[in-house]
Order: sequence, then C-alpha cells, then structure tokens
Amino acid sequence: MQEDMHYYGTLAMALAAGIPKEKARIIAYASQFVDDSSSHENGCNNDGGMLVTFTTSHELIDSAKTMIANTIAGVADCSDKLQDTVMYNKEIQRKVWVPNHFLPGGKGETLEERAICQKNSEIANVMFDEHIDYALKDRGDYDYGLHLLGVAAHVYMDTFSHYGFSGFSSDFNRIKSSSMKVKGEYKYPGFVEKIGMILKSEVPFFFLWDKVKSDFAEGGDSALGHGAVMSLPDMPFLKWEFSFEKPRPGNGCLSVRDNVASFAEGCEALYMKLRAYAEKKYADTQPVAYDDIRGSVLSVLNVVGDKETRSEAWYKSGLLPENAPRYDKNEWAIEIEKFGYLARSEDGLTLDCYKFHQAATYHRYYVLKDLLPRHRIALY
Ligand SMILES: [Zn+2]
Repeated sequence: MQEDMHYYGTLAMALAAGIPKEKARIIAYASQFVDDSSSHENGCNNDGGMLVTFTTSHELIDSAKTMIANTIAGVADCSDKLQDTVMYNKEIQRKVWVPNHFLPGGKGETLEERAICQKNSEIANVMFDEHIDYALKDRGDYDYGLHLLGVAAHVYMDTFSHYGFSGFSSDFNRIKSSSMKVKGEYKYPGFVEKIGMILKSEVPFFFLWDKVKSDFAEGGDSALGHGAVMSLPDMPFLKWEFSFEKPRPGNGCLSVRDNVASFAEGCEALYMKLRAYAEKKYADTQPVAYDDIRGSVLSVLNVVGDKETRSEAWYKSGLLPENAPRYDKNEWAIEIEKFGYLARSEDGLTLDCYKFHQAATYHRYYVLKDLLPRHRIALY
C-alpha cells in the first residue's frame, strides 16, 4: 500500500477508533515512515551517544535499480546480472521485507509455503494484538508504544494487498505474465511483455517495480510512462487478475483481485484493532461506529488516480479534521541530524525518530526471532 492508506487512511481509522488526535497522528506517521526509513544514517552526538537507524523499507542497491531500468528501456538485457544482485540481497529480504511488508501467513507445510503472506492471517493478528499489549505498558516520556502501533498498522494492512507473495526469493512469487488482466482504464497492451523479466524474477515484482518507477519518474524518463500499472496490489480502486506459476497451498494458481474489497476489509479490521487499544488505554474514548464511516471509506477507496489524488480524497472525505497535518517524510528524518546537535544525547530519547527506530528494532527482533519461530518459520 502507499501513502494514501498508510498515512491518511490509517489516520482516519485511528481517529474514528477513538484515539486522540495527536496520538493518532503518531500512529499514522509511523505507519507511513516504515516505507520511508530506507537508509542507514546514524546520528552521533558529541557525548558519544548514537541514534542508530533501522532500515524498514526496500533496500535495493543502485546498480540493481539501474539494471532493471535499462532492461525495461530496452537499452540492455541485464536479466542475469539482476538475478545475481537480487540473490545477494537474501539477508536484506529476510530482515527488511519479511517483517515489515510480507508477514508470513504460516499456511502449508514447506517453509516456502509458510512464508507466503496471507490476508489478515492469524500470525498478523497475533502480531498486532501482542504489539497492543506491549504498547499498553507505560514508559512515561520514553514511551514508543504509538510508534510500534504504527509499524503494526503498516505490516497488518500490507497483508491485505501483498497476500499471495512472500518477502524473499521463492518460486511461489513467479507469475505467468500472459495471465495478467487489468479491468477498467488501466490497460497497457504490450507493457506486460516488456516487463516479463521482472515478472519472472523470484522477488515480488511490484515491490521492485515501485522502487524503480519512482526513481525513474524523478529522472523524467518516458520509458516508464506506464509505470504505475505495476503497483497493482497497492492501488485501492483496481480490479485485476493473474495466475501464479505454482499453485498455493489450498488456493490454486489463479488470483482474482478486487482491491476495493480487500482494502475495505483491511480498513475495518484496522479500525477494530485500534479501537481495542483505545478502549484499554483511554478511559474517556469516544469512538465513531464503523457503520457510520463505512460509506465514506468506500467512496475514497473507489477514487481512481495516483497516490496524491487518493491522499487528497482521504483528506477531503470528512474523516479527517480540518487542517489535519499532512505527511512529510523529512519531519522525522531530519531528527537524525538534529540528534547530533543536542546538548546531551539523552535529550534525543524523546524524539519521534528515536522512538520510531526503537519500535522498528523491537518489531524486527519480535517477528524474526520470536513470532515466526513460534509458528515453525525459521527464516532468520
Ligand atoms: Zn509496506
């Protein structure tokens, strides 16, 4: 999913669930920041303290991005090299993609089957519920519970779009390129063949594509004019289908997707989780019944457009307060630098960025070394 859902939609669900404005904003910001914390830039203070950051997003090295881009543009065929580079990323896949964007669903018998992300899986529910319990502990000024709930919201919502794929190289991620059908106005004949290389790769194609697309778009290269089509799972309004090369446990090869229905299901489920937290945390919480926002949520999810248009739809949906704060990734990112200029490093412990990385670090350990092993998944 993208900023429209991870920030604006999450903010709307948190507010409706009865979480106070300022706190709801931290949850929503942390949820989107999972996608924007993509580099290691450690802040150092003069007293020796450090803010060590944890990458929670797609870490695809530059050469791989260039290779993909060149292949798409027809400048060179770098498929083999790309495969090598992607394989090099084995560890990154496991420590970044699996816990943050492709939480394994645990169905099936083999590891590869069990690693496939499942919509609203039992594992995802355990993760969210246990993060809620963790967030309910009172750590005073040093509390990072809201930041952890933001991470949980991101990972949980991703199961409603990334389901069927896993976050590490696996034959189960291969799809038959000729099987792709997109309904409505997102039809680009020939495009799917052009990106056949990506479809054949063993990593989730849209994940790679999204990263390349944004980099390319910034460079103004027209070869990627149709790029948006490959963010298919992340576009709430889309109806589409395709066939995997290998049948999934209990689910065959064909995947028919109605993203509005999946996103709507995700919104309601997220609202329920956040409401459960609010009811335990705030004695005077005043949630809005989900039935009262259901119609507005559906209207937003049906808006056809890029992520800016969709974010604007949330903004104007009546589900967010007037003048609700916008999302700006630099707001927290810049705190890494700020950490270095504080009189004492301990003053940095109350920065949102510090707290986000506390939450992200805890989440990575929790998923890879605790939650997944409990479900017979030894990935890291
Ligand atoms: Zn994600």
